[in-house]
Amino acid sequence: MRFMPTFQELEELLKEHDGEFLVFDNERPRLVILDPKKYDNLGMGSQHRSKILVTGGAGYIGSHTVKALQKAGHDVLVIDDLSTGSAASVDCQLVVGSLSNQELLKQIFSQNRIEAVLHFAGSIIVEESVLNPAKYFQNNVVCGLNLLNCMVQFGVKKFIYSSSAAVYGNPQKVPIKEDTPCLPTNPYGETKLIFEKILKWYAETHDISSVVLRYFNAAGAEVDGSLGENHPVETHLIPKVLQVAAKQEAVLSIFGADYPTPDGTAVRDYIHVVDLAKAHILGLDKLKQESGHFVYNVGTGQGHSVKEIIDAVMEVTGKMVMIEQSARRPGDPAALVADAGKIRDELGFQPAHSDINSIISSAWNWHKKLYNLEKSKNLEAETA
Ligand code: UDP
Repeated sequence: MRFMPTFQELEELLKEHDGEFLVFDNERPRLVILDPKKYDNLGMGSQHRSKILVTGGAGYIGSHTVKALQKAGHDVLVIDDLSTGSAASVDCQLVVGSLSNQELLKQIFSQNRIEAVLHFAGSIIVEESVLNPAKYFQNNVVCGLNLLNCMVQFGVKKFIYSSSAAVYGNPQKVPIKEDTPCLPTNPYGETKLIFEKILKWYAETHDISSVVLRYFNAAGAEVDGSLGENHPVETHLIPKVLQVAAKQEAVLSIFGADYPTPDGTAVRDYIHVVDLAKAHILGLDKLKQESGHFVYNVGTGQGHSVKEIIDAVMEVTGKMVMIEQSARRPGDPAALVADAGKIRDELGFQPAHSDINSIISSAWNWHKKLYNLEKSKNLEAETA
């Protein structure tokens, strides 16, 4: 027999014929098949190996999760429009395109055996969402629906969703449990909540199981320095403080020092991105065992104020950080700290890298590389 069967064809053949097959690749004999599973593992008929589809996999949290999935032995296929992510962040099959392109989605689902979808793609800047809500409803709700409807069409049943603590709005008390009422205070949080509700209904009506991960503040970088945070427009606290430490920016504005918190600055729960990536793997494991709709906070349960973060950056980097006090940023809650008990008890999630010094030192390693600081003569002269 001279042909390259797909995995499914091979399985069919083995039902009819006992024994072995000689497989030819480009007219040359390649191997003798004894076991169809081994054939699949070798990547022969690779379009029929099951894959995890990761939307937004070239972005900050997405790329760290792709790496974790690969380490866990999964085949990964990324779709990303590269509007904020970078192709260099992923070492796997990458489709550059938008989830608004339904034809492209159908092509991906028809040409690959997708086992589960991890959905990171979306717009994430709170202030921008207030100025341009249409962009957020389009990117975070409509594009997500395109994806879900494609899953319905192609019978894909597992979905892990990147949600946010922004769904809680300004909670009455911290730490926040998952059953706290969700009252978002900006369009970004609203789009995340709407999509959570869509997922809840798709679990009931279309049998698509979902794990919703409500991220608190993702921070830090891959410990080996290979990946990190690099948004085209940076709004997040830790990278902004590091930019000042690295003399890329002159001063850090503290947005509000009159909050009802111990030092007057806002308190957040910072979770290392490598720990956050691990939560997705645990979410996938959950859906392999159980179907339904599951919602988890992903945080540490520990809060740090803006001032504490600035102090920790100065300690870890040994650099001065100039500060100025500014007005509160519209829509910013005083304190967001997770009650992380549910994900610990149900999924066995234990943050391993999320003490604040480890977060900052891994992010600092990455930022030094990003700005090529090791070679910066100015900085050497200053620290000498
Ligand atoms: N923040 C600040 N200065 C900055 C950036 C952020 O004071 O340059 C504050 C912000 O107001 C919030 C906290 O740091 O209270 C964390 O902000 P970030 O944007 O990192 O995350 P968010 O909690 O808003 O998602």
